[in-house]
Amino acid sequence: MNDPAGSARPVGADAIRFVDDFRDRELSLALVDRIRPAAQRIAAERGLERVAVMEVCGGHTHTLFRFGIHQALRDVIEFVHGPGCPVCVLPRDVIAQCVSWAQREDMIVATFGDAIRVPGHGLTLQQARAAGANVQVVYSPLEALETARENPDKNVVFLALGFDTTMPSTALTLLTAKEQGVTNFSLYAVHIGIIPTLQAVLAEGAQYLQGLIGPGHVSMVIGSQPYEFVARDYGLPFVISGFEPLDLLQSLNMILAQLERGEAKVENQYARTVTSSGNAAALAAINRVFRPEPRSFWQGLGGQTDIGYVLSDEFAEHDAEKRFGIDIATDPLSVAEQPPECDQVIMGRLSPPDCPHFNKGCTQDHPLGALMVSNEGACAAWYHAGAMATT
Ligand code: SF4
Repeated sequence: MNDPAGSARPVGADAIRFVDDFRDRELSLALVDRIRPAAQRIAAERGLERVAVMEVCGGHTHTLFRFGIHQALRDVIEFVHGPGCPVCVLPRDVIAQCVSWAQREDMIVATFGDAIRVPGHGLTLQQARAAGANVQVVYSPLEALETARENPDKNVVFLALGFDTTMPSTALTLLTAKEQGVTNFSLYAVHIGIIPTLQAVLAEGAQYLQGLIGPGHVSMVIGSQPYEFVARDYGLPFVISGFEPLDLLQSLNMILAQLERGEAKVENQYARTVTSSGNAAALAAINRVFRPEPRSFWQGLGGQTDIGYVLSDEFAEHDAEKRFGIDIATDPLSVAEQPPECDQVIMGRLSPPDCPHFNKGCTQDHPLGALMVSNEGACAAWYHAGAMATT
């Protein structure tokens, strides 16, 4: 890691080894002191109230709040929350279908904890489980595969969701199932690509931004090269960032430095993990198991459809959609209803506390949208920060 704040303190690879080092208060404050006047200069030069920076990843949103970065800089930087919460763009029809399958005696639906509180058309998966449906929360797809081995009399469906980040583990699990002949294991694959998602968001609102903090985890898989279009087509600085406070502060500093120099390019602050070309083995697994296919049902995303993936034909016998069919009343490929404000938040056009439902009709106990309950949801970040009175 480079010296992020110009401090005399050594911050080379040998010096920063533990997570506490990435949360160093002295260095963080030094960076805040550097960012603040730079942001003010840039805003003044451009006639802006604040410099608008989108953090694409919902994990970054939560770090910004948790470590007080949002609160420390919000008067000079407008943090625009991006679409990087796969649960938040998940259509309600998918949840409704999983509830339907889980209510069958011969089926078990397994998924990540993030998904079970997402509103469907009726019951959430959590409510369905309380009513006796077979819903299992897992920490990995391999755990779902193990459930299938342990329950040979049941069909186990893993709701496979997430950006390119989680696709490799889904793919490798399916390859294992096929190799080991676990025929009662299936995937309901609703993965989504970060690049077309970003393209959809920028096509709608790039003019409101001055730069973007790029997602770290998904970039470990796809690398930094696929983001070149952001600088080339939209003239915006794009800095891929790690997830600790110093990572994010350094990334902000790098974006501002580009703006001050009049540059727009892709930079990689998270070089300790992210390479230019990504993880070849992970990409190979993805390309074998999945193929891109337009899905028209994502929440928000401006009508962009060329985003989704389905299982390739080689794995048809493990494809839950083909094996068990879609039996919910609504069309799973239609845009499901949720408050329009959710779509605006996903597109970075509305700040959560400006939603009329925020902390009124929509709370953690009674969410109207997944943004309020997902671990990466922007509304959940604001809700947990208790920041609704400080906008
Ligand atoms: S507060 Fe609720 S209704 Fe409003 S955008 Fe967030 S999740 Fe959607």
